[in-house]
Amino acid sequence: RDEHIFRADKLKVVGELAAGMAHEIRNPLTTIKGFLQLAHQNHYENIERYHPMIMDEITRVTELTSEFLQFSKPNLSQLKIESMESCIKRAVSIMETEIDRNGHELHVHYSEHSVFVNVEKDKIVQVLVNVLKNAVDAMDEVGKIGIRVNRNDNFVSIEVSDTGFGMSEVTKAKIFEPFFTTKGHGTGLGLSISHKIIQDHGGRLEVVRTGPQGTVFSVMLPVVSATER
Ligand code: ADP
Repeated sequence: RDEHIFRADKLKVVGELAAGMAHEIRNPLTTIKGFLQLAHQNHYENIERYHPMIMDEITRVTELTSEFLQFSKPNLSQLKIESMESCIKRAVSIMETEIDRNGHELHVHYSEHSVFVNVEKDKIVQVLVNVLKNAVDAMDEVGKIGIRVNRNDNFVSIEVSDTGFGMSEVTKAKIFEPFFTTKGHGTGLGLSISHKIIQDHGGRLEVVRTGPQGTVFSVMLPVVSATER
């Protein structure tokens, strides 16, 4: 019986996601169609004028669909015991250039002893990259990004902090909703996908605090104890 409720819930979520996705894809398609009609009316003179706009819209659809595919991937088929440090290092190596290019400082504090987690490494890396990307996007001026690993009995928390502009209460309440974005070119999928990934791992993704001084996100994951390894 519970299974039924669960499935009905899932179907509802899938329906809502599909509706949101259809809406998000229709807008760029409408724009592309408009530009093509214009180009056609002008007998394809100065076609290069429309090229950047059309390319931007196509990129947007491509990004949306590839991010969206993450939702439909089967959950957690490849769990492996990994060190938390190696996941963070991979995420940092992916984001380093962008952080540097914007002139931000990055400080990483690992825990004193290695911490191990049972995870799909690629997915955890994806979550960390999403959170780090948001940190970069939140800083209009040059700022600091911090990553701090804390272990308590059964969980490890990775706190990612930025010195950006923070979120209002209204924004904070909506960040995990698919397609919610305050960015001109955001997809609004990053945090909802990340939330699902962390939940699938038995962990929690939350905002620790946010304000005009910046934001701290926490990614919490169950740790693998020494006896389980
Ligand atoms: P996107 O990055 O495409 O907007 P996300 O789901 O990753 O999608 O983020 C949703 C929204 O959450 C962002 O548009 C932004 O308003 C807010 N947000 C996320 N992280 C931060 C942060 N570190 N500082 C301020 N706002 C943030």
